[in-house]
Amino acid sequence: MKEDKYCPNCGRKLSFFYMKQNCPDCGVDILRFNAEARLQQDAAQAEKEVEALWRFLRKLDKARLIEKYCRRKGRPLPWEDDPAGNE
Ligand SMILES: [Zn+2]
Repeated sequence: MKEDKYCPNCGRKLSFFYMKQNCPDCGVDILRFNAEARLQQDAAQAEKEVEALWRFLRKLDKARLIEKYCRRKGRPLPWEDDPAGNE
């Protein structure tokens, strides 16, 4: 199967048989450019995952704080109905 290759930097169409490492137009190192782009993507993805996990942990933490507060005050948890109905 034949696939067109393009310079990842300037978008110049490269011959399928173009095997040199540098773009003939802009001279960018094609292999390295691709590798770096992938690394940046990975890093961005990892950052997103860490952020999502962090938000989740913060939510848990808040839930626990609310639980503690309610227990200390003898109040029902916000997500439970108050069986006695007392204020
Ligand atoms: Zn180029």
